[in-house]
Amino acid sequence: MKTRKELKKLYNTLEFQKEYQYDGKDLGALCTQAGTTFHLWSPLAEEVELRLYRDGKHSECFQKIAMQKEKRGVWSYQTERYLHGVYYDYQIPWDGEIVELGDPYARGCGVNGIRSMVVDLNRTNPLQWEHDQRPKKREENIIYELHIKEFSWDESGGFSKENRGKYKAFTEEHTTLFGDGEHSTGLDYLKELGVTHVQLMPVYDYGSVDESNDEEFNWGYDPENYNVPEGSYATDTEDGAVRIREFKEMVQSLHKNGFRVIMDVVYNHMYSLESNLNKAVPWYYFRTKDDGTISNGSACGNDVASERPMCANYIVDSVLYWAEEYHIDGFRFDLMGLLDVDLMNRIRRELDVRYGRGEILVFGEPWAADETAIEGTAVPALKKHIAQLDCEIGMFCDDTRDAIKGHVFEAEIPGFVNGANGLEEKILNSVRAWSTDGRNVKAPSQVITYVSAHDNWTLWDKLEKTISDEEERIRINKMAAAMYMTCQGNLFFLSGEEFARTKDGLENTYNAPIELNRLDWERAYRYTDLRTYYQGLIALRKQLPGLCDKSEGAWKRIFEEWKTEGVVGFFVDNTGKVYESKWKTLCVIYNSTRETVSKELKEGDWEILVDSESSFRWKEGKKVGCAKAAPKSVLVLGQRSQKYEMDIWKTRF
Ligand code: CA
Repeated sequence: MKTRKELKKLYNTLEFQKEYQYDGKDLGALCTQAGTTFHLWSPLAEEVELRLYRDGKHSECFQKIAMQKEKRGVWSYQTERYLHGVYYDYQIPWDGEIVELGDPYARGCGVNGIRSMVVDLNRTNPLQWEHDQRPKKREENIIYELHIKEFSWDESGGFSKENRGKYKAFTEEHTTLFGDGEHSTGLDYLKELGVTHVQLMPVYDYGSVDESNDEEFNWGYDPENYNVPEGSYATDTEDGAVRIREFKEMVQSLHKNGFRVIMDVVYNHMYSLESNLNKAVPWYYFRTKDDGTISNGSACGNDVASERPMCANYIVDSVLYWAEEYHIDGFRFDLMGLLDVDLMNRIRRELDVRYGRGEILVFGEPWAADETAIEGTAVPALKKHIAQLDCEIGMFCDDTRDAIKGHVFEAEIPGFVNGANGLEEKILNSVRAWSTDGRNVKAPSQVITYVSAHDNWTLWDKLEKTISDEEERIRINKMAAAMYMTCQGNLFFLSGEEFARTKDGLENTYNAPIELNRLDWERAYRYTDLRTYYQGLIALRKQLPGLCDKSEGAWKRIFEEWKTEGVVGFFVDNTGKVYESKWKTLCVIYNSTRETVSKELKEGDWEILVDSESSFRWKEGKKVGCAKAAPKSVLVLGQRSQKYEMDIWKTRF
């Protein structure tokens, strides 16, 4: 076997690319009533053996088959047999040593992903799957990030015992707090909250949890089988068809209840270098430095070489597979800054061709943990390269996040809401989603506006570091929420932010016990006042086309802004493109001082939409002549639209 240094050289030669580039769509095992085919891309192998098993664990193989060498580095076997439910793996001799591997293109697998499984995907479809439809695309995107196990594990959620922590919990409708029949949890709760998208933390097969042990917990940022659902969330971890069917049932139920589904995908690194990809084509799919050492920009011990043509193909095919087979509506790319710009733009293009422009959301973290050994002229999809990314590729905006609530790593460094000075200009940029002329960001469609995610402290825990009094903390939490929900961009928040979710001050709970990570539904009703404030903000947001506008030039809707120390105010042109609003102009004031702030208003009738006490004021229609923002609060006023009133008049008579 060649050294890593030699392999790197070889893979980067044009000859290698020319000879071995394979664009066929039949890699992996495909199974229909007509028969079964196996294809593996392994250009350096001299022989490949396929082995078939009756289960995914320890049984002896019942058949060994020498694979046929095809062109372009592909090995194949075809049979008329219907092998649905048969498990398999490969053996490749490298330098006299036999390496066992699962199929890197596996669509199914047994417990813990050790053996791959042949699946006739038609047999995994739930009833009515062919009628499953993604909910209509809306102008506002309000994304709610959650973890399958955290969502329904706690008894307070009222889910049935056998489904707690599982995909299946998402098929349970009308669950309530301890089953009291009164306080909604689960799907009904999400509907009442008003979010439009559910973002699932890793749901592909990952390696850190023993699927046969229900006690184990991990966030799952350690992929093993990219194209198979994780087994620990299935009610049967051994029959590889069950996880597939139950995953589809979950998506179907979320769609039926009005939510689009986003998948958190981690194509930038894997659980370990013992991965099937690395065993099939040594050091092709992972970056190495010129001296042969292993690149580690992910801080997880390996970086996927997204810029290599067959690796890019692999990632694109994987994304398209989830969109097509599982009806996924959006993708959130973990450490997108380790992937390359060409790949991201290609993913965008391929999704647009199939599903319509911008229909499937694509966004990610525009950063990396460290430098990565990206090949040749490839450009990493980092924040500084946002201008080279398609307008419909978004990035998490750390500038907005930190300006509002304070430093993400330094506990005591506050943001605008909790006492920092001099952030007014940054806040105004945040309102416009950093997309004014002369900036890299082309439009608010490229920005994810948020103050909490699974990483780092919860918003509540971060605020706790700077504000000891709980009542004050609730007030500041409301203010932070009202701020980012009146900024442009796609809105995003961590599940439970709306009820003061806490992880006891721990920053990184990826492998902490489920007892700490789980959603505590009781807390949702202990912090009813805060939760209701979020509900009102979300309901109002859906009536504010001026802030939901994601198009280029949307920033011009923000006008006549002003700022003094601790105060930012602005007007919004709220006339609609896609839909009309009751209010044609908004006046918004963020007041982080301890004094009431007043602002004379232009002529016309103004009514209060949001103040420090309630985010449902817009239901009351109370008129004011002067804007008065209470200390430590956000005030939103609206001026009626005559056009809207006319349209209502017209539709009535
Ligand atoms: Ca797994």
